[in-house]
Amino acid sequence: MSYDALAALDRLPRIALLDAATAIHRLCRIEERLGLAARGIRLSIKRDDVMALGGGGNKLRKLEYHLGHARDIGADTIITVGGVQSNHARLTAAASARHGFACEMLLARMVPKDGDDYEKNGNVLLDELFGAKVTLLPRGENALVHANARAEALQAEGHTVVILPTGGSTPRGVLGYARCAREIAQQEDELGVRFDRIVVPNGSSGTHAGLITGFAALDRDPARVTAYSVLAERDAAVTTTLKLARDALELLGASVELAPEHVRIDGSQRGDGYGVPTAGMKEALRLMASAEGILLDPVYSGKAFAGLMQDLRSGVVRDGEHVLFVATGGQPGLYAYREDLAG
Ligand SMILES: *Cc1c(COP(=O)(O)O)cnc(C)c1O
Repeated sequence: MSYDALAALDRLPRIALLDAATAIHRLCRIEERLGLAARGIRLSIKRDDVMALGGGGNKLRKLEYHLGHARDIGADTIITVGGVQSNHARLTAAASARHGFACEMLLARMVPKDGDDYEKNGNVLLDELFGAKVTLLPRGENALVHANARAEALQAEGHTVVILPTGGSTPRGVLGYARCAREIAQQEDELGVRFDRIVVPNGSSGTHAGLITGFAALDRDPARVTAYSVLAERDAAVTTTLKLARDALELLGASVELAPEHVRIDGSQRGDGYGVPTAGMKEALRLMASAEGILLDPVYSGKAFAGLMQDLRSGVVRDGEHVLFVATGGQPGLYAYREDLAG
């Protein structure tokens, strides 16, 4: 098999943050509990929740290219933004610590939640341990405006600053998940399987965009990626994802085309909004933890797996399909949602 269409991934500036390919394995207990064997459905998981640095999670793949660029231009400081319990901010802090960048973050109140668990535990606790300068903004403030002002002040003092937007979802960040698509394609070849459906959450859309970028470039059916939106409305998420993927294809110099029908997003799992718990999320989290000993998170992967469970029950997932669920990390969020999750 040739992966040459993505050769640019190895030429663009990058700092390696993952030690190896993340594992893919079957979820046999869940297959049993949901009676999937009788229908010939196989369910596998890709463990993007297991990485050595900073607690791991999908944002590390994007940060490989962001920090590569930062080093390339001689930056000394990374400023990022996100919600209070941003996994991206936490991993930016950890990766910055490891590679000698100063890290500052401006956290916005994107979720109607407060209290000590939400504002001080989970990711926020870790941000501080990783040495980041954390600013919690009052409700209604635009974090990116504050980030720009702070960057100007630092630049006036002679620093070189890189600003990363929410979730690190820029065309450069998206390359991290194009790289993951190539990794999945290589694992398919090694395992001798072809996944019919690859399931991810869609938040700031970079993960989904990267996967379809990579699969489109490799001619491995981008439309088999099915995402559940947890942040934007479905149609807005489709537009953002398509734009990010097309821009990433341009960065890679790939000549393939992506159309709206390649971007499959289900909007049914968002519930009352970003970061707001749903009954389906709680059920999914409990099933994965109690049947497999694996932790999902309350904001992203829990809602995506809830969507997959619904589609397995309703028959949207057809008999005989081999499904790959991409676990994206975010376990620190569990501690911030203690009150919602405690049994
Ligand atoms: C950010 C995040 C996602 C969503 O990824 P996007 O690229 O923002 O769409 C999914 N899972 C976890 C745990 C995350 O932190």
